[in-house]
This record gives sequence, structure tokens and C-alpha cells, in this order.
Amino acid sequence: MSNSRRPLIAGNWKMNLNLKLGVDLANTIAKSAHSVDCDLLVCPPAQLLSDVARAIKGSPIKLGAQDCHANDEGAHTGDISAPMVRDIGCDFVILGHSERRADHRESDQIVAAKVEAAWRNGLTAIICVGETEAQRDGGETLSVVSSQIAGSVPSGATAENTVIAYEPVWAIGSGKTPSVADVAEVHAATRSAFAKRAGQAVADAVRILYGGSVKPANAREFMALEDVDGGLIGGASLNADDFLSIAASCP
Ligand code: PEP
Repeated sequence: MSNSRRPLIAGNWKMNLNLKLGVDLANTIAKSAHSVDCDLLVCPPAQLLSDVARAIKGSPIKLGAQDCHANDEGAHTGDISAPMVRDIGCDFVILGHSERRADHRESDQIVAAKVEAAWRNGLTAIICVGETEAQRDGGETLSVVSSQIAGSVPSGATAENTVIAYEPVWAIGSGKTPSVADVAEVHAATRSAFAKRAGQAVADAVRILYGGSVKPANAREFMALEDVDGGLIGGASLNADDFLSIAASCP
């Protein structure tokens, strides 16, 4: 973690929780949010956004969506647009998560179009990249991540409108993680790839999160790394104590 980049701990609730459980979780995190020295973000499923927005009002917690469409409006049944996400109170949107890349066949080109929609509507895009297990075994990690950055980050990225999340696909929800040295290597390579898209000054300031089976027990060693500026947390973000404990492990 660099002194110049304020850490961000983001919770990706995915397709979990109902209204009561979601609001309870948001209320519990909000009560202790002042006690941690990092930015906190929760990204509930779309149907909980308004209620969670109300629950965290007045707290330092920011709200994010898990996806948005590339178009601002129109005939796109089942989708949610960036203006809708903004209107409901979000400042962030997760884009290009590996589950969307896999389940919805989202290519780098589609992700880049969604990022442009997010920026157009004043949202910060959390752009996810990461290799599959086969790609890692084939020694392709750095080239895959660099190519995803090249293809998914449109021109015009700044440290304010963009956050990158490095999430090895095989580490998500599996309990497996790369070694600390591997995370350090990929984050440094991700920052270099980002510098090619946005220039060195923006790359030095942009936050790069690590995601993939982060838990209270392993968070501290990842968060201590120079190029790791926080975490994108899935499973552990559904438990307020675990989420806050991960946030408290930011140096
Ligand atoms: C994620 O899906 O973004 C994620 C990192 O999940 P988990 O923490 O459960 O591995």
C-alpha cells in the first residue's frame, strides 16, 4: 500500500441476501464504519440498492452497483443503466467481473463500452481483470491481465473515475489464493499495463484492488503490498465482522 493512495475495501454481495438481511448488514457495517482508516464500499444486488442507500445515509460508506448497461436507456429487458444506478445513489459500479465475463459472455469490448457509460454518468468504474486457472498454469497470467487492461480500459481513465481489481478467476470463492509474491508481481504488471493506457501519473495514483478469497486471516499480508490498494471482497463481505476486520487490516 502506498501512502499516496487511500485504500478501498469494497464488498461485492453478488446475488445474495434478501431485503431484511441486506439492510441489517448495511446498518451493522455503518455503525462501525468510522472506526476504520480506509474507504468502504458496499455493492448489493440491484433490488437492494435503494434500501441500502437509506441504511448507509450519513455514514462514510459508499454505494456501488454490480453492473450497468452500455446504453443509457432503451429496450434492454432485465438490464439496469448507469443513469439509474447513479439516480439511486451509487458512486461506483463493478464492471467486467469474471462471473459476468463468463455467465454473460462479456468481452473486453463490452466491458469498455460499459465503463464509458459509467464515466458519462459520473460513476467510478471498478474494472475487474484476472486469469483462469488454465491460463495461470500455462504461464499466461501477465499477458492475460495486460491484454484485459488494454481492451477494457477506454481512453480517458483517471484515478478518480477508475479503480482496477485484480481477481484471479480460480481464487474467487474457492478458498485458494496466489502467493503474496505472485500478487505483488501481477499488481506491478497491472500498474505498468495501466500506465500504457492512461499515462504514468494516472497509473501511479489509480487504486488497484486484490480480490479472491480474501478473509480476515490473510488480508493483512496482501494489503501490506506496495501495489495493493485495498480489496474486492465477495464471501467475506456478507459478514459485517469479517468485512470490518479486513478493512481494519489496511496499513
Ligand atoms: C469476488 O467475487 O469479487 C470475490 C473476490 O469473491 P470471494 O471474496 O468470495 O473470493
